[in-house]
Amino acid sequence: MEKFFDVVEQFGVDVFNEETMQKRLPKNVYKTLKKTMTEGKELDSSIADIVANAMKDWAIEKGATHYTHWFQPMTGITAEKHDSFISPNGDGTVIMEFSGKELIKGEPDASSFPSGGIRATFEARGYTAWDPTSYAFVKGGSLYIPTAFYSYSGEALDKKTPLLRSMDAVSDAALRILKLFGNTTTKRVVATVGAEQEYFLVNKETYDKRKDLIFTGRTLFGAPAPKGQELDDHYFGVIKDRVADYMKDLDERLWKLGITSKTKHNEVAPAQHENAPIFAPANLATDQNQLTMELMKKVALEHGLVCLLHEKPFAGINGSGKHDNWSLSTDDGQNLLDPGKSPMQNAQFLTFLAAIIKAVDEYSDLLRMSVASPGNDHRLGANEAPPAIISIFLGEELQGVVDALVDGKEYTSNGKQMFNVGVSSLPDFPKDSTDRNRTSPFAFTGNKFEFRMVGSNLNIAGPNTILNTIVANSLTDFADELEKVSEDKFNEALHDLLVKTISEHKRVIFNGNGYGDEWPVEAEKRGLPNLKSTVDAVSCITKPKNIELFKKFGVYSEVELHARQEILFENYSKVINIEALTAADMAKTEILPAVMKYAKDVCDIAASKKSVGIDPVVEMDTAKKVNELTVALSKNAAALSDAIVKAQGVDGEEAKARCYHDEVFGLMQSLRAVADELETIVGEDYWPYPTYDELLYNV
Ligand code: ADP
Ligand code: MG
Repeated sequence: MEKFFDVVEQFGVDVFNEETMQKRLPKNVYKTLKKTMTEGKELDSSIADIVANAMKDWAIEKGATHYTHWFQPMTGITAEKHDSFISPNGDGTVIMEFSGKELIKGEPDASSFPSGGIRATFEARGYTAWDPTSYAFVKGGSLYIPTAFYSYSGEALDKKTPLLRSMDAVSDAALRILKLFGNTTTKRVVATVGAEQEYFLVNKETYDKRKDLIFTGRTLFGAPAPKGQELDDHYFGVIKDRVADYMKDLDERLWKLGITSKTKHNEVAPAQHENAPIFAPANLATDQNQLTMELMKKVALEHGLVCLLHEKPFAGINGSGKHDNWSLSTDDGQNLLDPGKSPMQNAQFLTFLAAIIKAVDEYSDLLRMSVASPGNDHRLGANEAPPAIISIFLGEELQGVVDALVDGKEYTSNGKQMFNVGVSSLPDFPKDSTDRNRTSPFAFTGNKFEFRMVGSNLNIAGPNTILNTIVANSLTDFADELEKVSEDKFNEALHDLLVKTISEHKRVIFNGNGYGDEWPVEAEKRGLPNLKSTVDAVSCITKPKNIELFKKFGVYSEVELHARQEILFENYSKVINIEALTAADMAKTEILPAVMKYAKDVCDIAASKKSVGIDPVVEMDTAKKVNELTVALSKNAAALSDAIVKAQGVDGEEAKARCYHDEVFGLMQSLRAVADELETIVGEDYWPYPTYDELLYNV
């Protein structure tokens, strides 16, 4: 019989969460720690020892023998190095120890993580610092301490540090705005994030037979299966038992780690699924999404499955994204993107909305850059994901409000007059009637924005760092202007500011079909950037206006920006290099021999038919066609190999990435086209690896 899992009792049992803290820490220590957490302050070192000791005792009771500072280097995945709690007594025995110092700061030998040249190896020291706003947890016999990772000279070497900096920036800026609206009680504004994670499940046995999946996470070859996603019969369809078992197991593991896994369903493509949690503060949501991805893969293996998180594992059917739902919330739980009930609340909502519109328009290049990856290049603009052009979807209702404001007209809904333009007389306006526009990269969905360009494999720290920073910038501009105005002129000044801002930036608002052919043309007329590839997008990081922005809010220094740009270019080249090498290898050592064997067998049949006087019409046709394609395959493979060598020799990270993009990538596509055509001709038994049918339909 199946074991009963008591969710309420089990939720967060492996997390040193507030409930546990309260139980395990002296009252005053808990209070100080709590203050640190809610106000984003630094932890008082005098209480660190007490917290560390309590954490250790708790972790040992949960079976832990080690602790690790858990961090998120620029590789995009997480890193951990485990130390045991043991400390020798001097008499051959040991005790279990964990000090406040060890909790707060770590010094992993981290010279092999990408730093974009920030750390020459002679000063390779990197430090990790506890982020007390994200809970510690126990997993696999270790106490995990979420940390930020930085260099000897204080530069961020990870994705977490800039995110935390950006959360401070947006909090400070938002507080200034709230104060202008008479709010004196809110102490911190929190960026909240809920990440909807898409993924594919394939059989481990099938997976193991494909080098491309093993080395690159996606299929580099494969003709389409006869059936794709055209019947729309997978989306929200009945979940198969095997997949349901997997999801159940995954949920239980996530819940124990305090991750609020909420929604699960089948996605559009065959073998594709989704998991979504309830939103959390951005840094916690980031940690939890990293853990979710890790557990998705791990639990899959335990079920004889492999979880693919690549953005485009299969050509011709949808890839996987990760909708990044984002909002701002006060420390007492007021969602600032929830259109309010009173006129003042509505004015405040419109202020935040205008700030976001301005931010997205002014820094659309950065938003685009924040989701750039070789994998995501396959999705953006491929009619399954938003185009590479950034635009905002407001929906009919909100668009009406914004238009009325700008045009100085009355706003009516269902024939009812809803408000007058004067901010002081803004009455209630209807909310949550936003129509769903799945084709927009950045859509208002009732009380939050949904950033839909994020790829499934991406660490969400990046896009949220950008969102927080650019919105902090608009809010700061607003505050600078409005703080100068006397109280009796506030409404008028606010009204003027909103009208001016929206008028200036309304080009970025687009409520139409983002997949339509007309949109890129229209977007170009509006002067909106269309950065099609990762290489184009990454180039923008170090534009003067962007360097200026990050410096202003202390989110990235100029050195950090150059380093990150270098790492991103380098990563692009490395990924395409691995893909190209794998493709060339598969073509030469797997596909060619298989095709030759088939051709030989066909020719043998032809010869024997001829010897008895039968004209081998079909055999001759097939042999000729296969021969033609074989020649092309061999030529294309050779050209690809040459291009790889050329790209490897290019100097400079940007030039190299461009070479991989402009030359190597295209040749991979041509090679694939020939191989996929051969797949449709050559006998099934000859084909050297499992086809799309087997991959997509046998879980
Ligand atoms: P969808 O229809 O796109 O699946 P849902 O309404 O199910 O959208 O929500 C998707 C995600 O948005 C969930 O993870 C949810 O927790 C998150 N979300 C809801 N409200 C907020 C908010 N205020 N801030 C951030 N994320 C939010
Ligand atoms: Mg969504």
